Amino acid sequence: MSSGHPLIDRFARRMSYLRLSVTDRCDLRCTYCMPERQQFLPRKDVLSLEELHRLALGFIARGVTKLRLTGGEPLVRRDMIELVRALGRELGRGLDELTLTTNATRLAEFAEPLRDAGVRRINVSLDTLDRGTFTRLARRDSLPQVLEGIEAALAAGLSVKLNTVALKGINQEEIPDLIGWAHGKRMDLTLIEVMPLGEIDADRFDHYLPLTDLRARLEQRLTLTPSAHRTGGPARYADVAETGGRLGFITPLTGNFCEGCNRVRVTATGQLFPCLGGIEQVDLRAALRSDDPESALDAALDLALRIKPERHHFAIERPGSAPTLDRHMSATGG
Ligand code: SAM
Ligand code: SF4
Repeated sequence: MSSGHPLIDRFARRMSYLRLSVTDRCDLRCTYCMPERQQFLPRKDVLSLEELHRLALGFIARGVTKLRLTGGEPLVRRDMIELVRALGRELGRGLDELTLTTNATRLAEFAEPLRDAGVRRINVSLDTLDRGTFTRLARRDSLPQVLEGIEAALAAGLSVKLNTVALKGINQEEIPDLIGWAHGKRMDLTLIEVMPLGEIDADRFDHYLPLTDLRARLEQRLTLTPSAHRTGGPARYADVAETGGRLGFITPLTGNFCEGCNRVRVTATGQLFPCLGGIEQVDLRAALRSDDPESALDAALDLALRIKPERHHFAIERPGSAPTLDRHMSATGG
């Protein structure tokens, strides 16, 4: 039996949100995320569907109410929808929200099954509406499928929030149009600063765009009024008078938000990372495969709470500087 104790860390922060990676694999190769020749985890190390399910139930028993499935690209895992269906049955029984983050390449096929399984809101990552820019950035010519996926999600009645990594010299000039397009379709859009996670083929410094600078530039064209809207995450929102929509800002580098952290991440191999930007980790797969998995999982979660750091120390200060961590976002579960 789970202890049922709430997950509260040394800094009195309560963990109510789990981001669970179901695969580190992906059908795109976004240049800021991973190198073209990314080394993926051996399949034999990845948790089975049944293990992912038991893991999620262990977190729900400890008070996690929001679960986001992510990756890598969650929809490239073949049995993924079975997991969504199984977890959908926990909605209203401890779980308040089941959601996912996707690049949308396979959303046209999965939008309705996701909705039928109980998903109501999803995050879609979209950095550009220009096909050439998309192909250079994601190293795959998949913009048409992505747009089709977004339309399918909207048609299925899912609420879609777009996430856009702001990149100097790549999509910076296009961002006002992207905001207008998203708001015209009643989708919120959140801008994100690129984070120094894992080696890539380029230097992140070259394209790092502080959102303090971008916001100042946007304010020359748009009227942004700070909003009290929160989605339980690090984004801070503004209402845009010209479009009637909402614009979010996630600023890991220019505005630390760790004080209010409510989340932990688990990789597809069952490694729990209490902090996206920390080296601390706890092996949940060993706990799941032990003789007394429930008690072992509980003990592992208690350990994670004891070692969760106060804050991350991301920095992109100089050309050529090494990533803060050698782990990619796609492996940790973005
Ligand atoms: N493949 C899915 C997708 O792209 O939505 C889910 C996983 S992806 C790792 C989750 C998010 O992380 C995406 O919005 C992506 O843009 C973002 N991301 C990846 N690497 C990043 C980095 N180094 N800095 C900031 N955001 C990053
Ligand atoms: Fe894949 Fe998402 Fe990383 Fe792009 S950001 S390579 S879609 S995991």
